[in-house]
Amino acid sequence: MRELLAKAAKILKIKPEILEIISTPERVFTVNFPVKMDSGEIRVFEGYRVQHNSALGPYKGGIRYHPDVDLEEVKTLAFLMAIKCAVANLPFGGGKGGIKVAPKTLSEGELERLSRGYVRAIADVIGPYKDVPAPDVNTNSKIMGWMTDAYASECKMKNVKLKKNEILATFTGKPLEMGGSEGREEATGRGGVYVLQAVLQKTKDKRQKTIAVQGFGNVGYNVAKFLFEAGFKIIGLSDSQGGIYFEDGFDPTKTIACKLAKGKIAECYCAGSVIDGKCGVRIANERLLELPVDILVPAALENVINSDNASKIKAKVILEMANGAITSEANKILANRGITVIPDILANSGGVTVSYFEWKQNLEDAHWTRDEVNKNLKEKMVRALGEVWETAQRYKVDLRTGAYILAIDRIVGKMV
Ligand code: NAD
Repeated sequence: MRELLAKAAKILKIKPEILEIISTPERVFTVNFPVKMDSGEIRVFEGYRVQHNSALGPYKGGIRYHPDVDLEEVKTLAFLMAIKCAVANLPFGGGKGGIKVAPKTLSEGELERLSRGYVRAIADVIGPYKDVPAPDVNTNSKIMGWMTDAYASECKMKNVKLKKNEILATFTGKPLEMGGSEGREEATGRGGVYVLQAVLQKTKDKRQKTIAVQGFGNVGYNVAKFLFEAGFKIIGLSDSQGGIYFEDGFDPTKTIACKLAKGKIAECYCAGSVIDGKCGVRIANERLLELPVDILVPAALENVINSDNASKIKAKVILEMANGAITSEANKILANRGITVIPDILANSGGVTVSYFEWKQNLEDAHWTRDEVNKNLKEKMVRALGEVWETAQRYKVDLRTGAYILAIDRIVGKMV
């Protein structure tokens, strides 16, 4: 990441002190807050909010619940958000939050009290014109609804003068009935498919495309569903419980139905897995990444394509939907092997783009139809790809470096 930043800065002839500013987070918060468990015991949880850069607008970025979350990871993700918002040409800076917690071990009541407790702890530093959080791994619209409600109570208690629509604009990815946007839930997956199709058009690659998708949560499921609808053949799927291969191709809506049939944990998380489906044979998670497919879609966690397996990847195109799925060493190996990588900061920016639409709708007291949202999303994604593509060609670099050059140029252009 730092290497790429330095490379882009060198190409743009950016002074070292400016490079230092854009590579350092502006504000870093660690919070410790109490949560009452169902047993009556009080447990203290550690959470983070990192506000990386605000040159382009309010900080923007999701909140992640995971036992392995730490401050360094949140800092990296906040930096990536700053780059991503700039690539998508949105009036937002970058931020990210997280709580170190194993959310699937909590009851629904505990999960709600945890989410509300975290918002009380960070309430002073967020707001519609300051920092606008959203869902990420293990958080969803239901959790954003609790958070928005907790923020409204905090504002009332502390006499913060915000209008109702401004309170709603403090979080995105909310339920529809709480000012959420049509199409936000599936926006990241949909946006990734728009970008992939635009890349295939540019490379004039029209053959039948086989796909493997790692991760079958919000992003993985939606990417698989939209690719299937567009005529691609999904032959490999995986999630945290295992992988599955089916030569004839999966219908992702049938796979999700089998997964959902297992029920939910705390009404928020699916208890089932892709391996609960009726078709296909079980494969190890690592094998999924090495399947002989045309297109590989990592949509789970970071660092899954690394120096150990990059030389074994058989796909010709990788649509990097998970943040940081490809390490920098792997990126070099893939580039040398002529594999096209559509980088995370472009591929998964559909989520933050529709979050921007939601924030805008809240502030303007408007409600766009699903068709309007999807039309605007397509326009933004295709334009972002076009600009990244052109930058990459101009400087003779790969798409990720092209995206960094474009983003840094925009951020530095707005810095005072
Ligand atoms: P999610 O929690 O809904 O889904 C994550 C999926 O990954 C689950 O199916 C889980 O079982 C699977 N998984 C976990 N460990 C795995 C492993 N070792 N092997 C295979 N699968 C595994 O999360 P999400 O919202 O879909 O996010 C996925 C990625 O996309 C993350 O990197 C996130 O930061 C990124 N992202 C999400 C959004 C969004 O709008 N949700 C936006 C941009 C980027």
